[in-house]
Amino acid sequence: MAAQLESRIETIISQRNQLETVLASMLEGVIAVDKDERIVSINRAAAQLFENDPASCQGKSIEEVIRSPAMQQFIRRSLTNKNPIEEDITVYQNEERIIEAKSAPLMDADQNQIGSLVVFNDVTQLRRLENMRRDFVANVSHEIKTPLTAIKGFVETLQQGKVDKAEENSRFLGIIQKHVDRLNSIVEDLLALARIEQKDEQKEINFEPAKIVDVCQAAIQLCHPKAEEKNIRIDLDCEKDTTAIIDPTLIEQAMVNLLDNALKYSEPQSTVLLKSHQQNSDVIISVQDHGIGIAQKHLPRLFERFYRVDKARSRKMGGTGLGLAIVKHIAQAHGGHVSVESQLGEGSRFSIHLPHVK
Ligand code: ADP
Repeated sequence: MAAQLESRIETIISQRNQLETVLASMLEGVIAVDKDERIVSINRAAAQLFENDPASCQGKSIEEVIRSPAMQQFIRRSLTNKNPIEEDITVYQNEERIIEAKSAPLMDADQNQIGSLVVFNDVTQLRRLENMRRDFVANVSHEIKTPLTAIKGFVETLQQGKVDKAEENSRFLGIIQKHVDRLNSIVEDLLALARIEQKDEQKEINFEPAKIVDVCQAAIQLCHPKAEEKNIRIDLDCEKDTTAIIDPTLIEQAMVNLLDNALKYSEPQSTVLLKSHQQNSDVIISVQDHGIGIAQKHLPRLFERFYRVDKARSRKMGGTGLGLAIVKHIAQAHGGHVSVESQLGEGSRFSIHLPHVK
C-alpha cells in the first residue's frame, strides 16, 4: 500500500510539473482565480504583465497583484459570469498597452463554478496596425470623394444644358479635367506606395552598385521644367565617386519627390540645393530649400500618409499628401531612414540616410 501511495504521489507530482512547465512556457498570460478573488495559479507571462514574480503572487488577492482597476473589474465580472467573456483592456506600465483578456469559468466535478481562468494577450501592436489600416481607408475614401463630388456636380450641370456660353462650357470642362488629374495622381501615388511595400516584403528590390551623382543628375533633369517655370536654380553638391548599393530607380523617385516639394513650397527666383555626402559608412542625400518652412509642431507627423501642414495649399499645388510617405518607405526599404529640419519662413532640409556605402 505504501508503494502504491508513493507511486500515485509521484504521478501527481510529475503531472503537476508537466502542467507548470506548459504554463510557464506559454507566451499568453494565464491566471486562475478562486471565488474569493485570490490567485490560485499564475504563469510567468501573466506575472510579468503585472510586474510581479509568479511565486510571490500565489494565494494573494487580485488587488495585491494587479494594479489596473479595469483588469480587476474584468476578473470580478468573470467570477459572476457562467459564460466566457472577453474585452480589450488598456493598462499603463512604462507605456500604454492594450491587453486582450478572455475568461472561462472554472467548474468543480459537480459543475459548480469555483473560480475563473483568465488568459491575457498583448495586442498593442495588432490594434495599432488595425487602427492605421482603418484610418488609411477612411483617408483614401475622403481624398477620392472630394474630386469625385466635384466631377459629378459639373457633369450634371453640363448635362442639364444650363450652361449655354461656349467659354463657360470649356471652363467647366477644364475644372473636370483638373479633378480627374487629381484622382489620377492619388491613384498613382497609392500604387507607388503599394509597389514599394510589396517589393520590400518580397525582397524584390533591385539593389545594385550605383554612383550617387548619376542618380542626382537624373533627378534634377526630371525636375528641370518645373524649376525653370518658377525660375528656381537647383544646385548639386555631390562627391563624384560615392557609390552605394541601391535601387537607382527608387532613390531617383525619392529625390524627385523631395525636389518637387522644394520647388512647390519655394518662392520664384530662389535656389534649391541637392547635396550628397558620406558620413562613416552612411551616405546622406539632402534637399535644402529657402521656401516657406514648416512649424516645429508638424515635423513629427510630416512623413505620415496624407499628412499636410496646409491642406488647401497642398491641393492647390496638386499635392496628394503621399510624396513624403513614399520617400520614407523608399529609405526604409534600403535599411535607412529620413529626417527633416525646418524653420518657419526660412526653409527646410529633408534628408535620406542610407547605410552601407561601398
Ligand atoms: P504634398 O503632396 O501635399 O506635397 P507630401 O507628403 O510631399 O505631400 O508633403 C506633406 C506636407 O509637408 C505638405 O503638404 C507640406 O505641407 C509639407 N512640406 C513638404 N515639403 C515641404 C517643403 N520643402 N517646404 C515646406 N513644406 C513642405
